[in-house]
Amino acid sequence: MATLTFDVDAETPILAQGRRFADQPMVMSHQSYGPDVGVPRILDLLDEMRVPATFFVPGWVAEQRPGLARSIVDRGHEVAHHSYSHRPPTSMSTGEERVDFERALDVFAAQNVDIAGHRAAMWSATRDTVGLIAEHGLVYDSSLMGDDRPYLVDTEHGSVMELPVHWSLDDWEQYAFLPEPNIGSVIESPVEVEQLWRAELDGMRRYGCLFNLCMHPFLTGRPGRMIALRNLIAYAQECADVYFARCRDVAEWARDDPETPRRPLPDYDVDPAVYPD
Ligand code: ZN
Repeated sequence: MATLTFDVDAETPILAQGRRFADQPMVMSHQSYGPDVGVPRILDLLDEMRVPATFFVPGWVAEQRPGLARSIVDRGHEVAHHSYSHRPPTSMSTGEERVDFERALDVFAAQNVDIAGHRAAMWSATRDTVGLIAEHGLVYDSSLMGDDRPYLVDTEHGSVMELPVHWSLDDWEQYAFLPEPNIGSVIESPVEVEQLWRAELDGMRRYGCLFNLCMHPFLTGRPGRMIALRNLIAYAQECADVYFARCRDVAEWARDDPETPRRPLPDYDVDPAVYPD
């Protein structure tokens, strides 16, 4: 099973580091390239290859570009919750996280976009995040790393299906570069990235895992990287055992599978005499 996921962060990870960057046209245009150039190019590739995908969109981005989320759904893909502001939940208070989470839901409700799942900004979920997801009736999260197959996380509001991620399957670690603010300093060859992801796909086929690939239109939407993605999809389609699906469909199938494991959120009682802050 494979999921192609695109986090349409646009300007939000930059603004989360400081509103002052709004006045820097190079930085802002590097980010707006994502929804303006990357997303249409990605949608055309998905049409060409006939594969469905999931787009995690911050509420702020959906609000700034009112037709964007709806147009993705109308092309047969899923739009999912990716915070409102893209400020990492671990940098917020419990109350701030709730306000940010609910504000994004309000944006999607106003745009008539049905939301089933969530991914935390920068994957930086708190101990409260999964509970918020269950409380608001969403069925899955995709931010944690406790397995490489879907697993259930129980909360006081019910269970949430976790579709785990991993740094090796994120284009940010391969392609993210800006002099300032610091978002990374790598520009890897797309040929190398294709090899890396192909090796991970082969391993996941061998062990029966979910190949959950996380990409960003401002990074992967660039031309040479799109060719690498196209080659990867074509390779996967040659493998008779790889099936592409939207995250919400994977979450539903995993819930019907009696072998889906349950994994509690890690809960440690750490002695401060052993491990100071
Ligand atoms: Zn993001």
